[in-house]
Amino acid sequence: MKVVKLREGKERSLLRRHPWVFQGSVAGGKADSGETVRVESFEGKFLAWASFSPSSMIRLRVWSFDEAERVDAGYFERRIARALELRTRLPIASDGVRLIHGEADGLPGLIVDRYGGTLCAQFLSAGSERWRAVIAEALLGATGLTRLYERSDSGVRRLEGLESRTGWLVGEGTTEVAIREHAWQLTLDVAEGHKTGFYLDQRDNRKLFADTVRHFCYQRVLNCYSYTGGFSIAALAGGAAHVTSVDSSAPALTRAHAHVVLNGFDAARHDALDADVNQTLRECIRTGRSFDAIVLDPPKFAPTAAHAERAARAYKDINRLALKLLDPGGALFTFSCSGGVGAELFHKIVAGAGLDAGIDGLIYARLSAAPDHAMTVTFPEGEYLKGLVVIKR
Ligand code: SAH
Repeated sequence: MKVVKLREGKERSLLRRHPWVFQGSVAGGKADSGETVRVESFEGKFLAWASFSPSSMIRLRVWSFDEAERVDAGYFERRIARALELRTRLPIASDGVRLIHGEADGLPGLIVDRYGGTLCAQFLSAGSERWRAVIAEALLGATGLTRLYERSDSGVRRLEGLESRTGWLVGEGTTEVAIREHAWQLTLDVAEGHKTGFYLDQRDNRKLFADTVRHFCYQRVLNCYSYTGGFSIAALAGGAAHVTSVDSSAPALTRAHAHVVLNGFDAARHDALDADVNQTLRECIRTGRSFDAIVLDPPKFAPTAAHAERAARAYKDINRLALKLLDPGGALFTFSCSGGVGAELFHKIVAGAGLDAGIDGLIYARLSAAPDHAMTVTFPEGEYLKGLVVIKR
């Protein structure tokens, strides 16, 4: 077993059970891409078993802090069993479920979503890549499923020195799948959709949106960055008279419209607008339109903290415009999925947008990702999605 030694004093984050070691903390020791190494302090004390990533800034990702544990097929079976067992106890109103959420499930660099009878996995680190076949077998064994699609095409693989790879890892056939979320039928394509095909993390926030629309009798809804219309279906289910979905992806909008019909709503209650959100918001202000409820669920404006400042301006801009477009008493469901923008900063940005627009608002709810997107106290980076529901005074 190869040993990687840390610089003096650099063991502190591992002692706090944070699963990453950055390049600058490593004193010496080399291994192949994804190879399991023994991590020791400068003084030679065991700290963790970790996978080595020669090209990434995140040089080590911890598999286990237990010196007696072996990282082998049994290890992956145990971790996967633990993650699945957790999901059976969580309140998840869908058969679309995140089964493995990377670091928070003790499996750094591994994302696995289940869509009905189909699994979709992303191997995002050198370590998870190296154990890909073992992980695939353990996943099929634990779930009893026979279809596993791979979507290892995220940009973060480049940082790990890995090529992108997609396709059936196990099984074959159509990549089009259907799920039931709350009372709604939704479809996705594991090969073509964003991420693994769908934004499962917004599941509970879509339900809150439906409930809020119903409770406040909101009629006119604008769903910005709608993707395939999850929040639009929620609004219609909540009784909205009309919803406009705005997205820059034509295939996503086609599916959003199909979802309206699939769920038995009159197609006349939905408009799909293939456009830039910022421009659309300005155009709506110019033409004097207004809404009872607006969703802002943009893509990641700040992948890391280094982009936070520019991202903050972009978030503030769309939030200011959306707040202006709301009628008094209307609700803004606003989100950020940027790892580089924390909940506190996001709150400040939205507050700043309100000030600039001359609008006061009640914070009706603070939102995060659905609980199958596990978060742990030792890995704050896992807390990526944050949202606020603001009711305009
Ligand atoms: N709310 C959605 C997920 C949104 S993901 C859900 O519940 O499923 C973000 C979406 O923003 C993507 O669909 C992407 O196509 C879209 N997008 C990115 N930049 C955009 C822009 N400038 N204008 C409009 N849509 C954009």
